[in-house]
Amino acid sequence: MSQQTKFLLDESQMPRHWYNLQADLPKPLPAVLHPGTLQPVGPDDLAPLFPMELILQEVSQEREIEIPEPVRDVFRLWRPAPLYRAHRLEKALGTPARIYYKYEGVSPAGSHKPNTAVPQAFYNKQAGVKRLVTETGAGQWGTSLSFAGSLFGLEVEVFQVRVSYDQKPYRRAVMETYGARCVASPSNETAFGRSVLAQNPNHPGSLGIAISEAVELAVQRDDTKYALGSVLNHVLLHQTVIGQEAMTQMTMADAWPHVVIGCAGGGSNFAGIAFPFIGHGLRGGEKSRVVAVEPAACPSLTRGKYAYDFGDTAGMTPLTKMHTLGSQFTPPGFHAGGLRYHGMAALVSHCKELGLIEAVAYNQVECFEAGVLFARNEGIVPAPEANHAVKGAIEEALRCKREGKTENILFCLSGHGHFDMAAYQKYFAGELSDESYDERELAQALAGLPSVPETV
Ligand SMILES: *Cc1c(COP(=O)(O)O)cnc(C)c1O
Repeated sequence: MSQQTKFLLDESQMPRHWYNLQADLPKPLPAVLHPGTLQPVGPDDLAPLFPMELILQEVSQEREIEIPEPVRDVFRLWRPAPLYRAHRLEKALGTPARIYYKYEGVSPAGSHKPNTAVPQAFYNKQAGVKRLVTETGAGQWGTSLSFAGSLFGLEVEVFQVRVSYDQKPYRRAVMETYGARCVASPSNETAFGRSVLAQNPNHPGSLGIAISEAVELAVQRDDTKYALGSVLNHVLLHQTVIGQEAMTQMTMADAWPHVVIGCAGGGSNFAGIAFPFIGHGLRGGEKSRVVAVEPAACPSLTRGKYAYDFGDTAGMTPLTKMHTLGSQFTPPGFHAGGLRYHGMAALVSHCKELGLIEAVAYNQVECFEAGVLFARNEGIVPAPEANHAVKGAIEEALRCKREGKTENILFCLSGHGHFDMAAYQKYFAGELSDESYDERELAQALAGLPSVPETV
C-alpha cells in the first residue's frame, strides 16, 4: 500500500477534451421543451441567451469536445488540480478504507466553478458579446464569472441571492475587485424582482428568482448574454476536467475507486468528478458506485419529483425533465447557499432514473461536524457545500469499517470555506440548526408543476 499523500500531474497531462456522457448513455436525455408550444426547443430558441458554440455543446452527442487553447492557457494557472489521500482522516475514523479527494479549491475563486466560467467567457467574447449577466447563491459562481470576465474583457453583472448577499459581504467585495457589479436579488432593477418585492419586501431571495432577473436583463440587449454556473449540459461538460484528471491520478495511486462521491446542488461538480467514471463503466470498464450528496433541507434528488419544470421562478426558461421540488419552492436559508436550488441537472436526474447513481441527503449540522473533523485532520477548511461530500465520504468509510472492507473512496472537495467562516462561527456557537423545509409549501410547489402530456 502506497503511503503517498499527494498525486500531482504535469501541465502536459491536463485534459485536451471535455468528456460528454451523452455519447455513452443507454437512453438519450428527454427533450427540453418550449413552455408555450411544448415542442422541443431548437438552437435558435436559446440564441438570445447563449452564444452558439455553447448551445451546440448543450445538444452535442460527440464523446469528446476539444478544449480551446486560450481556455487551457487560463486553466494552467491552477490545473491540473491536486488529488490527495486522506491518511489522517482514515486514521481518525479507524477505517480500513482508503479515502482520496480531488481538491478544486486551488482555483483563483476557491472552487470548481472557474472550470466553466472560463470557457463560457471565452465563447461569449469570441461571439462578440460585451456583457454577461448572471445569478449567484453563495457568491462562488458570481466570483468565478467575474474572474473569467476580467480575463477576457467582458462586463459582468451579478444578481446575488439576498440571504447570501447579507451573510457573505466579502464575496461581493471579491466580485467588485474583479470589476463586476453585484446587486441583491430580488432587486428593483427588473420587473420580476419588483413584483416579488411588492409581495414581500423582506424576501430572502432564491436562485430561481435571481435566475429570472438575470434572464430578464439578458434578453433585453443584443450585446448581453446570460451565463449559468450549474445545471446545463454544457456546464457539466466543462466540469469533466475534474474526473478525467482524477482518473489519471487514481491510476497513479493504483486505487481505482469503488465509490465516487460529490455534493450536488445543481449537479456540476458531482457530474465533473463522476461522469468520466460512469462513462468508463458504460463502455465496459470497471464500474464504480456513484453517490450524490444533497442537503436534507433542499432534497431534489431524494425527495423531488422527476418531472418537467422551469429552471427559474418566473417561468421564463424552457421546461426540463429533472428532479425538482417545484420552481415555486423557496428552500430555507441554510448555509450551503450553493446547494439551495429547486431542481437538478437534467443529466444527473436522468442518471438517477437509469440507476447509474445513488443519492443521499444529510442535515447541515452533521455536515459541519464532518467538515470540522476533516479540517482538523487534513488541514483544508471545506466550503459548507463541500462538507456534504465530506460527510458522504465519511459515512462510506464507516460502512467499510463495519463491513471490514478496504475500499477506495474518491470524493470531490469542491471548494474551500474561507469566505464562509461566519457559518463555522455559528456552528461553534451552537447557533446552527437543521432547518427543515415547509412540507406544505413543498406539496404546493409540486402541485403547481406545469402539466406536460406523458407522450412528449
Ligand atoms: C456552487 C458550489 C457547489 C454546488 O454547485 P454544483 O453545481 O452542484 O456543483 C458545490 N460546492 C461549491 C464549493 C460551490 O461553490
